[in-house]
Amino acid sequence: MKGIVVKSTGSWYLVRDAEGNLHRARLRGKFKIKGLKVSNPLAVGDRVEFEVETTGEDTAVIHKIEDRENYIIRQSTHKTAYSHIIAANLDLAMLIVTLVSPRTSFGFIDRFLVTAEAYDIPAMLIFNKTDLYDEDVMEYQRQISHMYEKIGYPSLAVSAMNNEGIDEVKALLHGKTTLLSGHSGVGKSSLINLIVPDLELKTSEISGFSDKGVHTTTFAEMFEIDPETYVIDTPGIKELGIVDIPAAELSHFFPEMRERLNQCRFNNCTHFNEPGCAVIEAVRHNDISLSRYESYLSMLHGGDNRK
Ligand code: GDP
Ligand code: ZN
Repeated sequence: MKGIVVKSTGSWYLVRDAEGNLHRARLRGKFKIKGLKVSNPLAVGDRVEFEVETTGEDTAVIHKIEDRENYIIRQSTHKTAYSHIIAANLDLAMLIVTLVSPRTSFGFIDRFLVTAEAYDIPAMLIFNKTDLYDEDVMEYQRQISHMYEKIGYPSLAVSAMNNEGIDEVKALLHGKTTLLSGHSGVGKSSLINLIVPDLELKTSEISGFSDKGVHTTTFAEMFEIDPETYVIDTPGIKELGIVDIPAAELSHFFPEMRERLNQCRFNNCTHFNEPGCAVIEAVRHNDISLSRYESYLSMLHGGDNRK
């Protein structure tokens, strides 16, 4: 049978078959990813082939993992330790942000976007809590949206509380597998509640497959909106770990810098203090936004701008 992994604990998995039935499954055999040490060979979003067995606690055995279109990992902070695959086969990465209560920092937004670029996953921003915006904040939101849209990141302003913009969010998600991210407090759970039909039922169904004493940590959960549409929630993951990006390549993951790269005098320009730098020139002329450039410098120098 074919199915999709909707929950992964590292030692066992929950697989949804084409009819929507859930199977508790184990993995048979060794699966490796070239050049990467991972603690879990499988993650939510993985498409697998499995057999249902009639005996034992684990009712299914996975024997094949289909090739991944992409996957995101959390890199271990220790060079020698293992990375963790968070999710596989994503079509879209959606970051939920707020301008008030709390306010999401540009540094956080830009690190998310760089990560999505590094994984080659289209990304977009959802501004939530518009019911709390006054005219000034509303105008500010439009400016920020414009700034991000100009460099290729669509955005949408919504209010989970007032149920505004939710149909638009659903339309954006339709037919895709989407990673939902955001700082705690931005309203991610509220949005998921509005978007996923029968969420309570699905959550209890999934957690009904208890851990049975095995020490497990669940990193991500995948919810079905319809058979072609899924959202992945990553509770407990504050932010996606940035993959190791060499300094000279960081600007490749800023689309507005990427398009100017061959205009710099030096082809290994880091756009910091080099003469003849087209990026610095563009920042001076407001063609590249200062906040984006500041995020870039902060990442370049490994500074801690997480707030
Ligand atoms: P999460 O931590 O991102 O999952 O956020 P929650 O969904 O738990 O929401 C955090 C708080 O923000 C809760 O008190 C929600 O009621 C509130 N909240 C969520 N969405 C909105 C919204 O659109 N407007 C307002 N005013 N509050 C919201
Ligand atoms: Zn440069």
